Amino acid sequence: MKYKKPKGTEDILSEETGKWQFIEETAYKIFRKYNFYEVRTPIFEHFEVFVRSVGETTDIVSKEMYDFYDKGNRHIALRPEGTAAFVRSYVEHKRYAPEYINPFKGYYIGPMFRYERPQSGRLRQFHQIGVEVIGSQNPMTDVETMAMALDFFESLGVTQLKLVINTLGNKSSRLHYIQALVDYFSSFKTQLSEDSQRRLKENPLRILDSKEEQDKEIVKNTPSIFEYLDEESTCFFEQIKRLLDQLDIVYIVDPTMVRGLDYYNHTVFEIMSLASGFGGILTTLCAGGRYDGLIYEFGGPEEKNVGFGFALGIERLLIAIEAEQNKMSLAMDIDIFVACLDKKNTSLAQKASQIARSFGLITEQNIEYRKLKSQLRIADRAHAKYVLIFGENEVKENNITVRKMQNGTEKRVAFEQLTDFFETITN
Ligand code: ATP
Ligand code: MG
Repeated sequence: MKYKKPKGTEDILSEETGKWQFIEETAYKIFRKYNFYEVRTPIFEHFEVFVRSVGETTDIVSKEMYDFYDKGNRHIALRPEGTAAFVRSYVEHKRYAPEYINPFKGYYIGPMFRYERPQSGRLRQFHQIGVEVIGSQNPMTDVETMAMALDFFESLGVTQLKLVINTLGNKSSRLHYIQALVDYFSSFKTQLSEDSQRRLKENPLRILDSKEEQDKEIVKNTPSIFEYLDEESTCFFEQIKRLLDQLDIVYIVDPTMVRGLDYYNHTVFEIMSLASGFGGILTTLCAGGRYDGLIYEFGGPEEKNVGFGFALGIERLLIAIEAEQNKMSLAMDIDIFVACLDKKNTSLAQKASQIARSFGLITEQNIEYRKLKSQLRIADRAHAKYVLIFGENEVKENNITVRKMQNGTEKRVAFEQLTDFFETITN
């Protein structure tokens, strides 16, 4: 029997992994500039963690969760997103205590699981880079974090972007707005998709996010959230816009934008790719917002009950990078190829490889004892800079032939002088 990977998953092999590592290293570098640290939580959590935060009636929890009962009869779920676990761990380890720096700024990188219909840029196991700031109610936090997301994309050469922002207001504004939505959508009840008819009862805000054509038509004329914002909510959003303007960050306000998770309030945002690689559709690379209230939900203290975060999909980011035709400088080339022509010289060749590595040189040694010509071909394919040849004559004379691949010049180097050679080429 031949095995195949499960539907909606991907194997990431050699050259591809180079790109992933480049993206991850860029994330470490950029996020560090903003003084964020990585947080690693388990891949699975108690099912309740996601019901509590993402929301029972969201698609993620009601349709897309990979959940099961373990051998101890615990209800477990593979994480569909990162914020819930992040907040759970923040509260569990009491990071709100006075001895820690406030706000708590962290990020995560790793796989997420959602049972979705797989298509380009939509998988069942996909990968997110996410960022969270807990403990700050200051709009500067929202803006700094959005700026950091843009900084990250720009560092990867992804610049054809659109930043879209909106506000969902505070709790009371949101409740007023939801009531207005119920009134509005109720008059179109029978024209709504089946899912949205259900949402009307369970979670009306979600209708705005529907991907069904019949719903989109009705959504076009929905009342705007801005008519329902109280003073606090309006003031907060005005500050966000002003701070973005001050940083010369270009954005669009879309009053119908909501997010796929229940925990958001005040600022929500998306960063979309305008590049053509997504078949002409605008695709969201990164999404997030403010989630005041979520920390308390997990048992955290009232005074630290404020947070802001985003997540971006690495698979979609790779499509965007490709679409903008950016070449990532991938370090797949090697420095030294050790060509051993005779089994007898194995230990000498291996010793030379280890010395090269001690100089930080990327070194591959031949283990098949093929003819020199075919070894040179392999070295060439690997873009080796130098080939060290261990042939019969060389070893007899206690030296090695060093071939510079760029121009084919060769010279003999005494074995004891190898370190000098490595030193000159690394300086
Ligand atoms: P969408 O509306 O595209 O379903 P979402 O609102 O479910 O996205 P979030 O939960 O906010 O997305 O996740 C943030 C980012 O993670 C998305 O913008 C996207 O880049 C990525 N993402 C989400 N779901 C998937 C998936 N199934 N496969 C690949 N990437 C995904
Ligand atoms: Mg989704």
